[in-house]
Order: sequence, then structure tokens, then C-alpha cells
Amino acid sequence: MDCVFCKIVTGEIPSKKLYEDEKVIAFYDIAPAAPVHFLVIPKVHELTGASDITEENSGIVAHIFAVIARLAREQGIESYRVVTNCGEQAGQTVRHLHFHVLAGGTLGAMA
Ligand code: AMP
Ligand code: ZN
Repeated sequence: MDCVFCKIVTGEIPSKKLYEDEKVIAFYDIAPAAPVHFLVIPKVHELTGASDITEENSGIVAHIFAVIARLAREQGIESYRVVTNCGEQAGQTVRHLHFHVLAGGTLGAMA
């Protein structure tokens, strides 16, 4: 699978990991758009983006948001933004579902 995030999951591509469990990993974005910028992704390459989310598979999304809330709490981050780009025009460059967590200062406008 030629997917940069799958390679991060296997360790083929190194990353600065902050969290890992059996279902997801969180690692810092290589090109941070805010003082704190990490990504949380499912380990499996099942969903290419938000448009693949259904009632049946959305459990992973709930888990990811619970992980984000816990990581933010543990790091003392009170204010943050969660973003998922879906589709090329929205800025999606990696077709493996991922959520950006941005924090560490006043964030700009959404778009
Ligand atoms: P998106 O453009 O929304 O699909 O988000 C993909 C994100 O992955 C971008 O913010 C990239 O900077 C980030 N990214 C790409 N390759 C790596 C990598 N090897 N390690 C960490 N982050 C990466
Ligand atoms: Zn993948």
C-alpha cells in the first residue's frame, strides 16, 4: 500500500508519535500549521476520508475524538481546533482518514 500514513503506522516512515493504542496513532505533523499540530489516524487504511464514514463504521471516529480530548487534557491544551480535509479542493493530500488537531495560540479564520 503506497500510503504515507500506513507507512507511519508500520514504522517504515519515522514519526514523532504522541499516542498509540490498538486502533489509532497520534503523531506530530511534519509541516505544522500552528504551534501545536498533530494528527490522529486509524491504524487501518479502511476509510480514505470523511466521506467514507457511515453509521456502521463511525465508531472509530468517536474513539478518535475521545483520544483527542484526552491528549489535549493531558497536555494542558484548553483550546483547540479539529479539522479533517475531505477531497482535493478542501486540501486533502493523504487519502487515509485523519484528523488534524491545531492549538497553541489564536487560530485564524476557518477558510
Ligand atoms: P491533509 O493535507 O489534510 O491530507 O493532511 C495531510 C497532512 O499530513 C499534512 O498536514 C502534512 O504536513 C502531513 N504529513 C505528510 N507526510 C507526513 C509525515 N511523514 N509525517 C508527519 N506528517 C506528515
Ligand atoms: Zn493508509
